[in-house]
Amino acid sequence: MARILLNNVTKRYGKFKELAVDNFNMDIKDQEFLVFLGPSGCGKSTTLRMVAGLEDISEGEIYIGDTLVNDYPPKDRDISMVFQNYALYPNLTVYENIAFGLRIRKMPKHEIEAAVKRAADVLEIGNFLNRKPRELSGGQRQRVALGRAIVRSPQAFLMDEPLSNLDAKLRVQMRAEIIRLHRTIGVTTIYVTHDQIEAMTMGDRIVVMNKGVIQQVDTPEQIYHKPQNLFVAKFIGNQPMNFFEGTIEEINGYLTFSTQTFSIRLTDKQTKMFNQLRGVSYNIIMGIRPEYMSFEKEMFDVYPNAVLKGVLQFNEFIGSDHYYHLDSQGRESFTVRAHPRFSYREGEEVRVAIDMEKVLFFDSKTEKLLT
Ligand code: ATP
Repeated sequence: MARILLNNVTKRYGKFKELAVDNFNMDIKDQEFLVFLGPSGCGKSTTLRMVAGLEDISEGEIYIGDTLVNDYPPKDRDISMVFQNYALYPNLTVYENIAFGLRIRKMPKHEIEAAVKRAADVLEIGNFLNRKPRELSGGQRQRVALGRAIVRSPQAFLMDEPLSNLDAKLRVQMRAEIIRLHRTIGVTTIYVTHDQIEAMTMGDRIVVMNKGVIQQVDTPEQIYHKPQNLFVAKFIGNQPMNFFEGTIEEINGYLTFSTQTFSIRLTDKQTKMFNQLRGVSYNIIMGIRPEYMSFEKEMFDVYPNAVLKGVLQFNEFIGSDHYYHLDSQGRESFTVRAHPRFSYREGEEVRVAIDMEKVLFFDSKTEKLLT
């Protein structure tokens, strides 16, 4: 079992003991594909490098399998790393590059041959084994780097932004390749990225980090639909979530969420939640993704009391959809995803209905999701 366990792992750098990773706790299951996601400098690479043994741990414990590896050098941790700069040996052939780690470990020649062949088959690079890295495309080189990692059947793969040097198309292709590889050989994998699409498409679970602190650990679906705080809500989503500041008030016997420019009635479930949350500050930030705001008649029928008006500022056409950027009395701006058949013009005032089931409420002070 190659479960990886991090207990209260902390990293401080340099003379000023600057905190890069703060009390990180994580139980990575055997065969899991776990993604560390977060903005630049949030501590993703440092955490991965501590698991790899490339960085000392200031406090805490790391287990790989049942072994406490705090004092083990990288070569004794039975892990394979794949980096952004895949650093192949330029003078060695593809075969020799993949075989390198096995030769160092003095594996018998026929076993090396069999292992390289297996890896080459999985990655479909059998035809390039006699070429030098400079005779390969970027994607092929990256596959060789992966080959070098998988040839050893290690306990875990540690990957640090392995695709960020590839162009967009190759990245999509290699993403699929790595997922396929993981399904085939099922080795526990930690994958570092700042690309949320990569994280969402590849991870069994995602760890969202900010400033060295874990913000949320969850499946991609939960991270997208139930972000536990404002940081995660703002970080996830190609088109950003819409946010409105307001208060919860009782109007005509109904609980409503009111901003400077509109009031919408809460659902029974939301009313119950706020009634149970007595004592919580009622200064609220409401979050709603652009795809859950709508011009469709059906939505107005379902939520006649969750409607606001906006003036169209500009419109982004992305092929399958439009993103309409609207503005409410010059005070609040928001984005609506809509079918291209809606053809509103700039400056036009339109009505928008909100899918109240998809609304999220965050406490303004704590920035936490209210549930
Ligand atoms: P990126 O996506 O930019 O690679 P990251 O999330 O991987 O960022 P880390 O490289 O882990 O971030 O860095 C975390 C913090 O630790 C940052 O504030 C960084 O400046 C600091 N840091 C990293 N390496 C060192 C070092 N060798 N000495 C001092 N500080 C460091």
